[in-house]
Amino acid sequence: MNPGDRIRAEGPDRTVEGVYLPSSTPEHLVVKLDGGYNVGLDRESSTVEVIEPDVYDVAGEEPADESTSEIAYDDDLPTISLLSTGGTIASTVDYRTGAVTARFDAEDVLRAVPELAGRANYRGRVVSNILSENMEPAIWQDLARAVAEEIEAGADGVVIMHGTDTMQYTASALAFMLETPVPIVFTGSQRSADRPSSDNVMNAVCAVEAAKADCAEVLVCMHATESDDVCALHRGTRVRKNHTSRRDAFETVGASPLGAVAYETEDSPTATVTFDGEYVERGHANLSVDAALESDVDLLKFAPGMDPAFLDVAEGSAGLVIEGTGLGHVHTDLVPRIEALVDDGTTVVMTSQCLEGRVCDRVYDTGRDLLEAGVIEAGDTLPGTALVKLMWVLERESDADAVAAAMETSVAGELQDRSVPWT
Ligand code: ASP
Repeated sequence: MNPGDRIRAEGPDRTVEGVYLPSSTPEHLVVKLDGGYNVGLDRESSTVEVIEPDVYDVAGEEPADESTSEIAYDDDLPTISLLSTGGTIASTVDYRTGAVTARFDAEDVLRAVPELAGRANYRGRVVSNILSENMEPAIWQDLARAVAEEIEAGADGVVIMHGTDTMQYTASALAFMLETPVPIVFTGSQRSADRPSSDNVMNAVCAVEAAKADCAEVLVCMHATESDDVCALHRGTRVRKNHTSRRDAFETVGASPLGAVAYETEDSPTATVTFDGEYVERGHANLSVDAALESDVDLLKFAPGMDPAFLDVAEGSAGLVIEGTGLGHVHTDLVPRIEALVDDGTTVVMTSQCLEGRVCDRVYDTGRDLLEAGVIEAGDTLPGTALVKLMWVLERESDADAVAAAMETSVAGELQDRSVPWT
């Protein structure tokens, strides 16, 4: 039995049929079911039968190195770097392992998504191979440096394949860390490549077209509707995954998306990029990367009945972002504890769990007390974005007034003068 074979595995509790995947733990047998999900069975107590060997012929092929690449470089096409970090979209690239391999080149890209052919010259690179719930600030830093190296090496645009769960955090991190002369476009997939409703091809094609376009910002490119007709281009610092499973899960909060990619599949797919509103144009900024972060920062959501001891987690921490209620509140009894944190040197920033609208702590007593206690208001910065921004700011500013001023000034479109809900 080899990875890539279709098997039937009979375990003590269940019988499953699907593709045999390699597993990092020898005691487990991992099977990718037809619905796209992986299940693990205890290898010793399972009986396995191979139904069809090597059902995925992408598997096992040694990727060619650059010197033997059969894909000719086309002078008339831009060069797009595709960086993979993992997530569901990575299983597009190698069905057998459910992930991309470390040697990930133009051939791999085109074998996985043939619809990308003729749109660009491709460079491929693997930065990590994880589900995005396992993402860490240290990988944001590796990714930012890898993106900068790709741009230095001549990429006209960068596409980052990423799990959808925490894509908004990574997009924010790169938006703060990088000044970029070219587009940096995140994309992912809500449904895996083996499902008829997979969004992987359309999202990848639209992301590549967005990376060739004029907006040199960090963007997220994902389905905008339930159909296969348009992807939205969201500013990385204002985007949020708002649905667990729908393909159009991502929305720009408090604004309209920056642009769209209209997609048609008659004959071969066409993808047309348009922008709406103000954005930073290609070539406007010089490349720079500053990936330093103070990662000792937490994000805490307040809820009625919350044990005040939850705040102890921030004792001695560099920073704490609170998702307060409404205009930016917590239970009155928590205010003295928050004041003690601030007095001890922890920067405390208030955001709102309402998501739409902005924090304004001048209206009610609790808010005024929080301001008195030294809490900084994050305006309409989204809570997750405020977390990443505070990590970035604390590495650059040490004086409390300077930290507050930085949190109250927009760096990468995360803080708007006016919040306008997207309708
Ligand atoms: N949990 C997965 C992740 O975020 C889902 C996905 O890939 O979209 O990596």
